[in-house]
Amino acid sequence: MPSKHILLLPGDGIGPEVVAETEKVIGWFSQHGPVKFTTSMAFIGGSAYDATGTPFPDETLAKARKADAILLGAVGGPKWEGLPYGSRPERGLLGLRKELGLFANLRPALCYDALADASTLKRDVVAGLDIIIVRELTGGIYFGQPRGVEQLPDGTRRGFNTEVYTSPEVTRIARVAFELAKKRQRRVCSVDKANVLECTEMWREEVIAVHKESYRDVDLSHMYVDNAAMQLVRNPKQFDVIVTTNMFGDILSDIASQLTGSLGMLPSASMGEPGTPGVFEPVHGSAPDIAGKGIANPIATILSFAMMLKYSFELVQEAHHLERAVMHVLDQGLRTADIMQPGMTRVGTGEMGDAIVKALGPN
Ligand code: NAD
Repeated sequence: MPSKHILLLPGDGIGPEVVAETEKVIGWFSQHGPVKFTTSMAFIGGSAYDATGTPFPDETLAKARKADAILLGAVGGPKWEGLPYGSRPERGLLGLRKELGLFANLRPALCYDALADASTLKRDVVAGLDIIIVRELTGGIYFGQPRGVEQLPDGTRRGFNTEVYTSPEVTRIARVAFELAKKRQRRVCSVDKANVLECTEMWREEVIAVHKESYRDVDLSHMYVDNAAMQLVRNPKQFDVIVTTNMFGDILSDIASQLTGSLGMLPSASMGEPGTPGVFEPVHGSAPDIAGKGIANPIATILSFAMMLKYSFELVQEAHHLERAVMHVLDQGLRTADIMQPGMTRVGTGEMGDAIVKALGPN
């Protein structure tokens, strides 16, 4: 039987709690699926700083490079907020993405029928929603040079950042979006601000060129980011795959996350070139307000493992089986506190994990 190695990076706050539940799910698939999974663990974030003096130890990077895929909990918390910038937990996360060259961030927004009433939008706008945002993760204005704040001779200050993309950076992220769309409804919407920013005008031209060259069987449309933000709350189901720049993706994916009701439900994946291990993690943070109470929702992390099955290991049927098990548990009325609704049964982190494993099938 083929074997794959998963590096677990539980991190801080509720990270270890939600990763522990996902380990149960990994164990089930290792026993019942076509691939055997082995796991190991390493430090990242604040807990890494406490143990080793750095949020991203060399040993963690070495283990990450050797793994087939990485499952991350969350990093951060008030305990480490006063540390110098380079020692903060978030540096661990950014370091991991940078070192592995993870340029594509995939964020699905899927609204389970059972949770449609938990959204702040009307049920008919979000029920059955299934879209995915592909955000460029290693370029654009968050990394562009020059950047900084300078003192001007007249005593005022000038702050500046640079939005910059090269054509290969656009081409590779466009390809990720088109490939994804081929496995879905075959529609890609590229979001830019081509009417104002030359850099994104070039983005649009490059996306069109990739489409013409290799993906004529996928529908391509374009939208300005301001309109896209509005359309996401007006009629999100019009989209299938959205591809966009680092900053626009940051903003739009947070809007999309609210469509589905709870942060505790949203998985994500960060992918690099083929052969690089992807990092799979919940969208939420370390939730220090509820850490250690056994009430965190493990579903976002469990669904991140479903993304790993699909995108790192090509185990699409197994991923669907896991997604169906989650849906089944929600249909049964089991709810963690963050998605609790009247008439439903409230469960803790461990009970939710156990219920999902049970729904997968007999042990
Ligand atoms: P957060 O996502 O941790 O929490 C926001 C709110 O959502 C809190 O009320 C929390 O209790 C709730 N929540 C989050 N996940 C939940 C879950 N699985 N189940 C139930 N409720 C859940 O965001 P925050 O409070 O802004 O940040 C807390 C810390 O996490 C900060 O240090 C921040 O820097 C860090 N953070 C890390 C990541 C990451 O590791 N990728 C992402 C965002 C924030």
